[in-house]
Amino acid sequence: MRQSILFSKTSKTAPKDEESQNAQLLARAGFVHKEMAGVYSFLPLGLRVLKNVERIIREEMEVIGGEEVLLPALQPKRNWETTGRWDTFDVLFRFTSFYAKNEYVLGPTHEEIITPLAKRFISSYRDLPRYVFQIQDKFRDEKRAKSGLLRGREFLMKDLYSFHANQEDADLYYERVKEAYWKIMERVGLKDHTYLTFASGGTFSKYSHEFQVATSSGEDTIYACEPCRVAVNEEVIAEQKTCPECGSDKLKKLKAVEAANIFKLKTRYSEAFDLNYVDEKGKAQLVLMGCYGMGISRLMGTVADVLSDEAGLFWPPELAPYQIHLIALQGAEQKAEAAYEAFRKAGVQVLYDDRDAGAGEKFADADLIGLPFRAVVSKSTGDQVELKGRREKTGELVDLKELISRVS
Ligand SMILES: [Zn+2]
Repeated sequence: MRQSILFSKTSKTAPKDEESQNAQLLARAGFVHKEMAGVYSFLPLGLRVLKNVERIIREEMEVIGGEEVLLPALQPKRNWETTGRWDTFDVLFRFTSFYAKNEYVLGPTHEEIITPLAKRFISSYRDLPRYVFQIQDKFRDEKRAKSGLLRGREFLMKDLYSFHANQEDADLYYERVKEAYWKIMERVGLKDHTYLTFASGGTFSKYSHEFQVATSSGEDTIYACEPCRVAVNEEVIAEQKTCPECGSDKLKKLKAVEAANIFKLKTRYSEAFDLNYVDEKGKAQLVLMGCYGMGISRLMGTVADVLSDEAGLFWPPELAPYQIHLIALQGAEQKAEAAYEAFRKAGVQVLYDDRDAGAGEKFADADLIGLPFRAVVSKSTGDQVELKGRREKTGELVDLKELISRVS
């Protein structure tokens, strides 16, 4: 991609109303644009990152048997009355349509849609277990939305729902999802910053967990046990002052953002919608459910927050919108064009800074955008290019052919 014709442009200053690190950097680098508090447009570079996060999550959901669906964001009021959440869900977007005067919800979650839908297809023990997930925009009527992509009013999320004949099977699948989530956290580069949090104290901790990522922009406070990679939430710390795994009292107080959560729903929703199956003995039983959420745009914001430095963003190769930032310096334009063509032919994802700008501006933008590698072509590099990793201080001269084989 030629930077000279890129739809978005970088900016030296962050928007005045952006307080959080992730939003400031993503806006300056031209990845997102804030439409209003908690609502963002994803620009070409940002959308490529978002799609990469989506791809990683989709791959890991398929590994654990997830089948993808797409449920409506627009949901009828009556389903929310059935579960009793029309009046109790605190950030629910409720509204009345202008013509039909019907009342609707913009979905913050989808138990109210997936459970009655599952009734159509699950009726026998032979129909269980089942696992379905979707990747879709969610809506929450947040009072405050000041943390950039970390807390949106509209945001992209993956939600997985599982249906089981018995608790033992539900418990086994819960552990598989936990493993899949750790794998995702590793692939997006956040594993070393992530803690599995016991959301509530006592026995309830068996039914719900959060994946919390330590970052100064986080709105949650956790007490983390470094060696165990587990943490206790602020609400629980009064009754659980030690690590639930090893009993250590050396818990570290950290700010964190909840990247994902997992819940054993038991029969909460199957009871509301009368979702039954007939067991081997011909007896009707309630289906057991689990739900497992993961914020996709929030993960992108968290990576922008946690892995960046003073100069700008840093994207791990699996998330990066392009793998290499090719920079042409004055007097080496022809050589740079040839390098760009060679990269493209080899199928290397390359962002080519062919703009009519000085070296300083190009280097600063490369750091801000944060691709894994920068390759500079100048008069002094001869037949070679100067290659530098985003986090390295100095580069090395490499042969173009060798470079292409290294990154393709
Ligand atoms: Zn511990």
